[in-house]
Amino acid sequence: MERIALFPGSFDPITRGHHEIINKGLGLFDKIVVGVGINAGKKTLFSVEDRLRIITELFEHEPRISVLPYQTLTVKFCKEIGANFILRGLRSGLDFEYEQSIAFANKELDESIETVFLLSSPSYSNISSTIVRDIIVNNGDYSKFVPKGFKI
Ligand code: ADP
Repeated sequence: MERIALFPGSFDPITRGHHEIINKGLGLFDKIVVGVGINAGKKTLFSVEDRLRIITELFEHEPRISVLPYQTLTVKFCKEIGANFILRGLRSGLDFEYEQSIAFANKELDESIETVFLLSSPSYSNISSTIVRDIIVNNGDYSKFVPKGFKI
């Protein structure tokens, strides 16, 4: 059976931390679908179209990665795309507390889907989309925090 993982998130925008988790995931899974969540109640800096385009451009050379928008329960989207794993990244114990509760809820909703956590490298563990957005809106140099080849 093919191992397909969904890497769900807001990616507003994608950071070096996300990029590293996806690349590490390629060593574990046959395919990774980066799922850009559309949440009508959440205000984002980047439109869904821009978030999708930026990630698609970064991975256009990697046929095992695809990028799709979704607006449903994460486990339902996994079923739609044939994913049997959810991939999430952990930066700290705080991330773990939050991620564990989501993983438990997803397990209740669909027992067949396993959540897999990968730790970020120490050098990326302080990077968040929030920090990148703050630097962008204040016209700072955000290049060290986003993947090489990132184009707004
Ligand atoms: P969400 O809104 O679902 O939290 P994010 O886009 O913020 O979506 O994050 C998606 C996933 O990437 C989450 O599992 C988050 O913990 C992880 N992540 C975010 N930043 C980093 C980082 N710097 N290193 C590793 N994982 C990260």
